[in-house]
Order: sequence, then structure tokens, then C-alpha cells
Amino acid sequence: MPKNEKVKQRKPTVIDAHLHINFGRDYSKQLAKKVGLRYTPAGLLKDMDENNVARALIMTVPGQLEDGKKFSKKYPGRFWVAGSADPKNLSAETLKTLETDMADGSIRAVKLYVGYQHYYPDDDDCVPIYELAMKYGVPIIFHTGDCVSTMARLKFSHPLTVDDLAFRFPDLKIVMAHMGNPWLWDAAEVIYKNENVYADLSGLVTGLPEAYKDEYRQRMLERLESVIYYCGADHLMFGTDYCLASHADSIDYFSKLKIRKADLEKILWKTALKLFGRGERV
Ligand SMILES: [Zn+2]
Repeated sequence: MPKNEKVKQRKPTVIDAHLHINFGRDYSKQLAKKVGLRYTPAGLLKDMDENNVARALIMTVPGQLEDGKKFSKKYPGRFWVAGSADPKNLSAETLKTLETDMADGSIRAVKLYVGYQHYYPDDDDCVPIYELAMKYGVPIIFHTGDCVSTMARLKFSHPLTVDDLAFRFPDLKIVMAHMGNPWLWDAAEVIYKNENVYADLSGLVTGLPEAYKDEYRQRMLERLESVIYYCGADHLMFGTDYCLASHADSIDYFSKLKIRKADLEKILWKTALKLFGRGERV
């Protein structure tokens, strides 16, 4: 292969801003099998290496934090952890742990599951968490948009609900996971209007019915292009929602976006590094 050919084929740098590590869970194992993953810690590391994924942000749910922290410590420099809490059952001890973890960088974000747990992002019970987040510059991630459980309530996970919170706490950094899909336009407007709001683009083409899979993927690319033309790329981040999607397929998909190279770089890694990296380099 000629030398310049090699340069052309070099894979882009990537940070995965949304990933789950439920290697022991049967349901996740089945999903991973469908996607064709080597679904083990070693398999994940291999996938990340092969696809030039420098870092990944591990999502946790309440009770899973220690596992996430342990995992990230085992592979130094590869993973960040998003902690979690149930704002309706906040104890002084939970807040103390959150503060320690924020202060020493053990967690780089806090994820809240508004639609699943039935509260709005600007619920007063969440405020103690937000105060800590602002003190340490740690972003709050909300699951926004569609929820996989029929017990979830969509009015709490709609991206427009984030606007009230962004207005109330302009210094709080907020991330809308899944960019509120299917309400991408609403999410784009919330980002356009509020300097402190971001979105990850994970899970947008996962779990699709077979009949219109290809058509949906194509339309989603066009929808993504449209919202990027509207709200820009500065506040958008790539994510896989692994194990629902592979790194290879997701990166290939995003590389098809008809956007400027500089914007693709922001989405693939630069914005996530700024938001979660605490001065690290990749
Ligand atoms: Zn997820």
C-alpha cells in the first residue's frame, strides 16, 4: 500500500460519550449477541482499540456506581464514569459520596433517569445534586426522549423540560442523552437557545423494526444533518449506547454525515473531551 494511502485510511479519534457495561446481565448479553459483539471486558477493549476509541463514558444506575468505578480503575486512561442517584431518596451519605467522587474525578457526570423515575429535570429534590455539580463543574446527563419501559412517562423525558432547568441554573452543564429522540428538533432548539445545554447522539438507530431499518437509518442521517445545520456541532457528542450498537458500525454511520470535517471532529471527540476530560489529552 502506498504511504499516502495509509494516511487516508487512518481512523478518526473517537470518544464514546454513552456506553453501558452490563456484561453479567442475560438481557444485555442477548442484545449484544444480536449486534454481533464480543461482549466481554476484553472484547470491549479490543473493539475500542480497533476503532481508535480513546475514552468511553460509562453510564451507571443507582447501585451500580462501585462496579463502574472499579472497572474504570482496572483500565486506567480509557474510561470515565457517570455516577447516578435517586433524587427522591437522597441521603446525606449519597451526597457525600457524590461530592467526594466529583472532587477527585472518579465520576465525570451524574446521570438522572427522569422518565423512568417520574420527575422533571427542574424538580426541587434534585437541587442538592445540581449545587454539587456546579461547584465541581460536573455535567448532569438526563435520559431524554423515548423510554424502553411502558412504566416510564414521556412527559418527564421530553427535551423541552430541560429548558426550564437550563434557564434556572445557567451555570449548570446539562447533557440530553439520545438528543431527545424522536424529538430531535425540540432538543436542537433547547441547545440553540441555552449555552449550557449539550446532547449525546447515542442510541438513535438501535432496536429498529426490520421492515424499514434501512430507510430509517437513511432518514435519521438526514434529520441529524438538518439539526446540526440548525444548532451547530459545538454541543453534540458521539455515543454508541453499547451494547445496543457496535463501535465500528456507529462510527461508520456518523462518518456518512454530510457536515464539515471540523464539525465531525467536534462530535466524535472534541466536545466530550472538553466537557468530561478535566484537562486530559487523547
Ligand atoms: Zn443508554
